[in-house]
Amino acid sequence: MSQTVTPKETTAERQKREKDGLDVWADIVRYETAGFAAVDADDMDRFKWYGLYTQRPAEEGFFMLRAKVPNGALTSEQLDTLGRLSQEFGRDTGDITTRQGIQVHYIRIEDGANIINQLGAVGLTTQGACGDIVRNVVGCPLAGIDADELFDAEPLAQRVKDRFLNDKAFSNLPRKFKISITGCRHACAQHEINDIGFVAIRNHDGELGFDLWVAGGLGARPMLAKRLGAFVRESEAVEVATTIVGIFRDHGYRSDRRKARLKFLMADWGPVKFREELETRLGRKLTDSFPIDSTTHAEFQQAAVNESIRDHTGVTPQRQAGLNAVGVATLRGRFSGTQMRKVAALAAQYGQGRVRLTNSQNFLILDVPTANLPTLITELAVEDLHVHASEFRRGTISCTGRQFCKLAHVETKARAEEVIRHLETAIPDFNDHLRVSVTGCTNACAQYQISEIGLVGVKGQVNGEETEFFQIQLGGHLGRDAALGRKLNKRVPVADAKHYLENVINVYRAQRQPNERFYEFVGRYDVKQLESLDQWNNPQAQGVAQ
Ligand code: SF4
Repeated sequence: MSQTVTPKETTAERQKREKDGLDVWADIVRYETAGFAAVDADDMDRFKWYGLYTQRPAEEGFFMLRAKVPNGALTSEQLDTLGRLSQEFGRDTGDITTRQGIQVHYIRIEDGANIINQLGAVGLTTQGACGDIVRNVVGCPLAGIDADELFDAEPLAQRVKDRFLNDKAFSNLPRKFKISITGCRHACAQHEINDIGFVAIRNHDGELGFDLWVAGGLGARPMLAKRLGAFVRESEAVEVATTIVGIFRDHGYRSDRRKARLKFLMADWGPVKFREELETRLGRKLTDSFPIDSTTHAEFQQAAVNESIRDHTGVTPQRQAGLNAVGVATLRGRFSGTQMRKVAALAAQYGQGRVRLTNSQNFLILDVPTANLPTLITELAVEDLHVHASEFRRGTISCTGRQFCKLAHVETKARAEEVIRHLETAIPDFNDHLRVSVTGCTNACAQYQISEIGLVGVKGQVNGEETEFFQIQLGGHLGRDAALGRKLNKRVPVADAKHYLENVINVYRAQRQPNERFYEFVGRYDVKQLESLDQWNNPQAQGVAQ
């Protein structure tokens, strides 16, 4: 006799069923006086819904606090507030995240509600910064100022953020849910790795709107988003986003957390069935965009994707005459409270008090008159924030790593700094765009699969001793013909990472074809060949495939 087996409920599902993540706010307020020792273990996990995440070492009882910054858009007042709170409560720590948010560390739960309330007073929220809920909505940092954009999509990003705020119909999702919206021609907001990507296009009829992408995601099993072949007008976007989140809520795989992201549902359904379900729920057909098949996909890329300026550092003239966006590279995402306050002041003094964060962990100051550029650039450099930064500084991102993250195998921020400073000295004339990721574990907080060089922290044994390595992945990139990096059967001790990168970059410089990007160069070789890539300039190692 056959028997139906009910899957065992996961801890996360039980916690969400017993108390919604949004309801933990009352407890965060209560723990202000009750203190860390009184915190219930399940509430500790629910704190994520308000951006509070335990940091290591756990026994110290500190939290990371992440603020959502839709489209990466901050005012000077907001950035100054973040910086002041970091100085006051977070030991002057701060990082820009790859989702254009800001996080600080060393937060005590006794200060949590006070800090979140102070952020709320300047229009910032931490709600949904972490947890199984709609996360920060990302977008183009040049929205509204880019002379070349199809339309300004930042107001839509704000509307989508508002749609999901405080709504318990969407606060218990199977896993996190990520949305990207851009009106630019360069598809710079990483729609390929978001659960929903609204990518601006002009369709065959000359109408402006979005091409709809669904179910991208990285993590241990990365998948790029699929196009549904649907054209979404700006006026429809909030409804379409809400409906897709509803599909995920109702059909996502809650019984296995490792398979709970939308990408796994898409892998089973495929884009045709997914669109059918979406249209059934909407009660109407969506207008067709370019069809899904591969030929017209290339046509879509031609129409919409120019990857040349996905990096926003340097000075970009705005469409507002006489004004400029000043893109600034941080050192691997670190952005201290002191730096935040300084940048807030500079943005007010030399611009109009507007700052945008980028998904490369960098930032822009907007609305700077040309006459103010030299002074601003000099004053930023005093803070070790550079407008004309090395390619290594512009293109290297890193996750939190072992300093604060409980899952990390290795230190990342200090190691990334070591790599950048070494390469700046060893190869000072390198001026090709190169995206490098330094990541503490196989979770993809620093997006190693879409970086041209991915260093992924792993542990291994050498002579019976536990040793830290970076496992190497090469060739990942977004944009035209986006592809995930290929994993090599190669790892390097963490201390040797800087020499490995120096050798690999020198091989690339010596052997590439004119104007060939790094990902294109490594794309010409198979994985086995690439395992010796760092030795190709070494005469002793001649004979390896080249
Ligand atoms: Fe932590 Fe891993 Fe994420 Fe890095 S990638 S922050 S080590 S979970």
